[in-house]
Amino acid sequence: METVGLFFWNKLAVLILILGAAILISRFFCRVLCPLGAFYSLFSRISLVQLEFVEGNCVECGACVRRCPTGVVPNKEFNSRECIMCLKCVDACHFSALDFSIRRPPGKRPKVKRVTSLYKS
Ligand code: SF4
Ligand code: SF4
Repeated sequence: METVGLFFWNKLAVLILILGAAILISRFFCRVLCPLGAFYSLFSRISLVQLEFVEGNCVECGACVRRCPTGVVPNKEFNSRECIMCLKCVDACHFSALDFSIRRPPGKRPKVKRVTSLYKS
């Protein structure tokens, strides 16, 4: 009977830890605990879709970082294995520094239009 009680308190502690982390950290379960997510992330390097980043357009405003639900820094680690292609960063970027594209062989990538902004000299 005492053993059953010990198991119960252990499980309750784990549950509270996971719930607490899920409240404090965006997509905690998917990013840290989900084995399926870890398996799927292996295929992200050969994904047919990808993010395009135009470094010259980025003004480091951080809007994309604030919108990313998985904690990726899109303008530093675009096409990270943690990226779920939600495209919230593309939506957040008002400087055309991020875009979505179909993966093409190197050398066959289209020219991405560069924009000038009020914040760049
Ligand atoms: S939102 Fe666009 S301009 Fe701002 S940091 Fe991200 S990529 Fe750069
Ligand atoms: S597509 Fe979504 S998950 Fe991927 S870097 Fe952008 S905001 Fe983050």
